Amino acid sequence: MTKVQDLSNAHISVRGAVQGVGFRPFVYQLAARHNLRGWVCNTSGDVKIEAEGEPKDIEAFQKDLRKLAPPMAHIEDITVTAGKPANYGSFEIRPSIPEKGKYQLISPDIATCPQCLHEIFDPFDRRYYYPFTNCTNCGPRFTIIEDIPYDRANTTMKNFEMCPECRAEYEDPGNRRFHAQPNACPVCGPQLELMDGSGCPISCDEPILEASKLLKKGIILAVKGLGGFLLACDAANETAIKNLRERKHRPAKPFAVIVASLIDARKHCEISDEEAKLLSSPASPIVLVKWKTESTINKTVAPGLKYLGIMLPYTPLHHLLIRTFGRQLIMTSGNISEEPIVKDNDEALKRLGGIADYFLLHNRDIYARYDDSVMLVEAGKPRFARRARGFAPYPVKLSFQSKQILGCGAEEKNTFCLARDNYAFISQHIGDMENAETLEHYVNTLELYKKLFKIKPEIIACDMHPEYLPTKYAKELAEKEKLKLIPVQHHHAHIASCMAENCLTDKVIGVALDGTGYGTDGKIWGGEFLVADFKGFERAAHLEYLPLPGGAQAIKKPYRTTAGYLAALGIPVSNDLPLTHYLPEGELEIIQEQVKKSINAPLTSSLGRLFDAAAALIGVRGVIDYEAQAAIDLETCAADAPDESKDYPFTIIEENGISIIKVRDMITDIIKDINDKISKEAVAARFHNTIARLITEVCRDISNKTGLKKIALSGGVFQNRILFRKSARMLEEAGFEVYTHHQVPCNDGGISLGQVTIAHFNER
Ligand code: ZN
Ligand code: ZN
Ligand code: FE
Repeated sequence: MTKVQDLSNAHISVRGAVQGVGFRPFVYQLAARHNLRGWVCNTSGDVKIEAEGEPKDIEAFQKDLRKLAPPMAHIEDITVTAGKPANYGSFEIRPSIPEKGKYQLISPDIATCPQCLHEIFDPFDRRYYYPFTNCTNCGPRFTIIEDIPYDRANTTMKNFEMCPECRAEYEDPGNRRFHAQPNACPVCGPQLELMDGSGCPISCDEPILEASKLLKKGIILAVKGLGGFLLACDAANETAIKNLRERKHRPAKPFAVIVASLIDARKHCEISDEEAKLLSSPASPIVLVKWKTESTINKTVAPGLKYLGIMLPYTPLHHLLIRTFGRQLIMTSGNISEEPIVKDNDEALKRLGGIADYFLLHNRDIYARYDDSVMLVEAGKPRFARRARGFAPYPVKLSFQSKQILGCGAEEKNTFCLARDNYAFISQHIGDMENAETLEHYVNTLELYKKLFKIKPEIIACDMHPEYLPTKYAKELAEKEKLKLIPVQHHHAHIASCMAENCLTDKVIGVALDGTGYGTDGKIWGGEFLVADFKGFERAAHLEYLPLPGGAQAIKKPYRTTAGYLAALGIPVSNDLPLTHYLPEGELEIIQEQVKKSINAPLTSSLGRLFDAAAALIGVRGVIDYEAQAAIDLETCAADAPDESKDYPFTIIEENGISIIKVRDMITDIIKDINDKISKEAVAARFHNTIARLITEVCRDISNKTGLKKIALSGGVFQNRILFRKSARMLEEAGFEVYTHHQVPCNDGGISLGQVTIAHFNER
């Protein structure tokens, strides 16, 4: 027995993502190891511990809290205050205490852990083949939470009463399933059900086996996953893929493929160590990797592309289905073109009825819609194309204490962002805000985040584009709740988001290159060099303004952009240009007339459009089926001429203190190369070289004027691997410090983060 004078007592508060990740049983076991007594409990704001014992033991315990924390715990902060000894007889786990106004970080959903995986393939385990197996180290989290604290009663598992065996695991602090809120087994947990396309149940003992037999016949299966329905079909069956494309109204956009294991993945793709690590990480995202030509995955999965989006199974259901099926499956979001992912059973039968032949359903409700995350590795580091499953709602940490602010985001690839304290809670990918369904998803998700993180925005930030749906929503909300509304320029937001995630606060040279963003002059910006900080920006340089004949029509038909640019620059269209193949009879004359008279030909400085124009000029793509397709094809084409070192000229002129980049010389030289029968691949590569040099030269010029050395690269154009790699390297060689995105996408998915930070520094 410890003598009273040696007894010490410590009140410990642990903050971070420490609930639903096995933290309390860890504390319980750690306390036993260090001979401590007292208690641990979850509150709405932290995990509280009172530990009593010998001072040296308490000290060792505190050290181990951080050092030995469970894999999915993310400790932000530990505070300790001395308490009065209360002579506890044991260490216990106390019931959760909800506290008004307090909040906690919430863990994202986590891919099946190795132990659970072992169990589902062990014929002697009671969870053999059970598709809802999970433990405190893995399984659903964010998608099932209705409110905090994270207890079973506050999740969609509340309707499942645990059987005695599950209950015993749940209550045993020494068990891996101690307080695993979604804990379940075949006796007491959720069950699968197979239905046909009209919603009639198909009676069978083994729905997974039955579903996989059907998949072999080439059917399309809707599978209820973690954060919504996925559409699956045999990735080797061209007819099935064709059907899926037709029914989903998705003629060419690439699909993601799920493979059974890393070994399987390596048969089809080249995978670096970093990519392997990312694929098998707890977040288990889709990773874009180099596709081998000998792969048996059908080429129509990602027509014409060198990179394929693949993922490993991340739930027991995925593992079981893919192993039973025996080869690779397409797994794509269960939705119709641009609508949000379907999450409820009734909704699925109604909305996906025209796409899926069969449904593999279950009776565990999904509370939050959650798409798969999409990532890529460039220069050895992961980058996001889409941030959702496995990451949201984990926040980006800010370098300052933020007011409570809502950033409503951009229109495409929308996310919103809610900030408080030093956290920016960026929502999971919401989608393109083009229809009522997506707006509803947006509003519901916003309400959930406000509730979970106890945020009541004092300020609302939005894009300057008057026609963006999130901007209209922001205006209405600000009016209704009498809140201050701060419109933020699109490219300034891009740069601020890059600054925020890199904890930069001083002025930088911001290179914001994308397709479309509303400028302060009402024109369409997108090839922008800004001198910026959170407080404001100056437009230091931009691509020259050129006309988009027909506006949105030109975006869908890049040949129109090319023809418009040529007309504006006074470059004739000779008959031997590949461009003429795209132009229907008489359209060239109409476009030229449109440009001459400025009829429905809005002006843009967009670099994304210059990529489009180059793609159609070279004859790579004249009409697109999905966003950025022409630029992607141009990049793919350039990849086949990797050793090309030539580039094209351009000129920079000064106009009212702003540098304007003129592209006439570039375009005439491209045409010269085409006439000289230089290969498409070489011309595409030379074009990429040109843009990388252009970025470097303009930055050098701005740096000479301002003395700035830090460069922030942002905007969707930087999803282009070749351009990103080349320009980052050239800038570094020129002596610049280059910053880019690793926590949020460089595309419009990162805009909301930038809006929030700018609003914080501009609220007066
Ligand atoms: Zn597990
Ligand atoms: Zn059970
Ligand atoms: Fe953008």
